[in-house]
Amino acid sequence: MGRCRARANVGGEVRPAAYGRITSLAVDPIEKKPLACWNPGTTVLSLGGYGCNLRCPWCQNHRISQVGESEVGWRELTPEQLVSMASDLHKRDARMVGIAYTYNEPLVCWEYVRDAGALAHESGLSNVLVTAGCVSEGVVREVAPLIDAANVDLKSFSDETYRMLGGDLSCVKQCIEVLARTPTCHVEVTTLVVPGVNDANDEIADIAGWLAALDESIVLHVTRFFPSWRMVDRGPTPVSRVYELADVARRYLPRVRVGNC
Ligand code: SF4
Repeated sequence: MGRCRARANVGGEVRPAAYGRITSLAVDPIEKKPLACWNPGTTVLSLGGYGCNLRCPWCQNHRISQVGESEVGWRELTPEQLVSMASDLHKRDARMVGIAYTYNEPLVCWEYVRDAGALAHESGLSNVLVTAGCVSEGVVREVAPLIDAANVDLKSFSDETYRMLGGDLSCVKQCIEVLARTPTCHVEVTTLVVPGVNDANDEIADIAGWLAALDESIVLHVTRFFPSWRMVDRGPTPVSRVYELADVARRYLPRVRVGNC
């Protein structure tokens, strides 16, 4: 079993062992993903499995992201069952527009996103992806044409911070680039401001400047940290600091939102 706890070596081949194993299912407002500028006022059937390839010490979803199959309750939901459930919900309420792959890292089982995403499109439903974006380029290119809106975490602009999380900054940048260059995919980005980790003006300026050079229409969410899981040695980000950093980002990007304040 890989470090992500979702993919396994079976007879020499890496397989998505957690395929179709669902731990969480809820109808969420689209603004909660967060997506601020894509179909506001709608909802999406949001689902999560278990596992993640990163180890963010502040992970609020650690009960599903940092566990394997024997440490969490899950049930099997095939792509067909998921899309049928979403279609029924859509028939009852047209504001329920699609499916969001979210909560843990959905791309540790990207094959499920691909299979369910294709079926969802055949049924006239949208696909929303919420990811940390730490995946190889081939995976992003495989799923990108199926994704109508994505929110990608850009947790830092420092290689060192990403190493601490078990990730890779260049991978995340590449993921954002591929999604942003996919004409059918709306892209928003989230940076959680963690005191002492990524709360310097320069770092937020670097993030916003890089995004602006890629595509000025990208929405950046600058959000407030709360102590969680293994990071309880500091308080929440001061609200005033989140607003200050959002103003720094606005020097580069026209659409910057604050969150968790
Ligand atoms: S990438 Fe997201 S789900 Fe994974 S550990 Fe970090 S915060 Fe948790």
